[in-house]
Order: sequence, then C-alpha cells, then structure tokens
Amino acid sequence: MKPRIMVVEDEQPLLLMLKYNLEAEGYDVATIERGDEAEMRLSESVPDLLLLDWMLPGVSGIELCRRLRARETTRRLPIIMLTARGEESERVRGLATGADDYVVKPFSVPELMARVRATLRRANPELIASVLKNGGIELDRETHRVRRDGRELRLGPTEFRLLEFLMQNPTRVQSRAQLLDGVWGRNVYVDERTVDVHIGRLRRALGPGRDLIRTVRGAGYAFDA
Ligand code: CA
Repeated sequence: MKPRIMVVEDEQPLLLMLKYNLEAEGYDVATIERGDEAEMRLSESVPDLLLLDWMLPGVSGIELCRRLRARETTRRLPIIMLTARGEESERVRGLATGADDYVVKPFSVPELMARVRATLRRANPELIASVLKNGGIELDRETHRVRRDGRELRLGPTEFRLLEFLMQNPTRVQSRAQLLDGVWGRNVYVDERTVDVHIGRLRRALGPGRDLIRTVRGAGYAFDA
C-alpha cells in the first residue's frame, strides 16, 4: 500500500514536477492548487503527509497549517512547508505554526525526497517499514508473505492489503469508509458491506488463536495485538 501524499502548490510546473517525482518514489499523490480546496479535501480524507506551499490563493499555506493543527483529525498530520527564498522570518513563523519541516525553493529533488521519507518515518515508522510485525503476525511488503507465529498464511490480495492497512495503525479504529478509501482506493465504488465480507475472510485466513481484528460496533475495525 502506497503512502498517500497531498501536494498543495499553485505553480503548476512545480506541482507537476513534484507529482512526477513523488510517484516515481512510489507514493500515491493528490495535487491541489488552492488553499481553500485543500482544506475541503482534508476534511473528507487525511493523507499520510502534506506538502504545503506557503503562498496560495484561497487560504494561505500558513493559515491552513494553523487550522489543521487546531482540528482533531489533522492535529498530527505530517506537514512539510515549501517556502520561497528570502522568507526567512516567515519560515520561522511556518515552524511556529506547527509544520514538521520546511524546504526552501528552489530545492533539489533528492533533498526533498529525503525530507519526505524522514518525516514519514518519524510520524509513522510502520508506513514505510518493509516488514510489519505485531501480535505474532509478520507481514512482508516486498514478498507479500504473511506469517503467524512463524507459520505461513494464505491471504487473497484484498485481505493482504486490508491487514497491511490495519497493521499500519495498530489499535486505531478504522471506519468502513476509511478502509474503503485506503484499501480499495478513493475512486472505486464498493458497497460498505464488502468490507465486512473481506474482514470475515481475513479472520478465517488468520486462523485459530486469538482474534486480532477487533470489531467496534457502529464504528469499524481495528488491529489489536
Ligand atoms: Ca505559491
């Protein structure tokens, strides 16, 4: 499952360059050119990292950052601010407003990619680890193998992604809508009951022993080790 990055930047050539390079690094990239539009999208779906330009039409990056920090769902969203050269004092304000890091334009692509990776790793090491281990489960993202207490399990591709998604944020309850968004993708129409069907298959594939998938009535599912 690819880490999801939202890029908010009103200079189109830069936006396209970022999208191209981030996709080449294996990220799932959403691009937006206005601050107010970004705010609307973020109230519907929260990515794993936000690359945010400082000067934007609609709502400025700095103001958007401040609002996101005040909101429960985006309080801990990793944010990297993009600032123009010579905005040193503004850069300081950027950090004060709660950005995790900042990059000064023009920046080198490898440097930005390193910052993105480091910020993602700090925020959630599970997101980019090649093997997830928890509760006796070992999920290998590279070989697509899953073991429970050393014994290999057979999982269908959807069950694999579902387990991966749940293990990325252990103990956190994921709603059916969040699971659909993260596992099936945001542009696919799937009935929410499909989630229950695949959770059932995942539970059977995990075999006997303690049930690692917790059902939270009216809310969704969580991975509990
Ligand atoms: Ca700008």
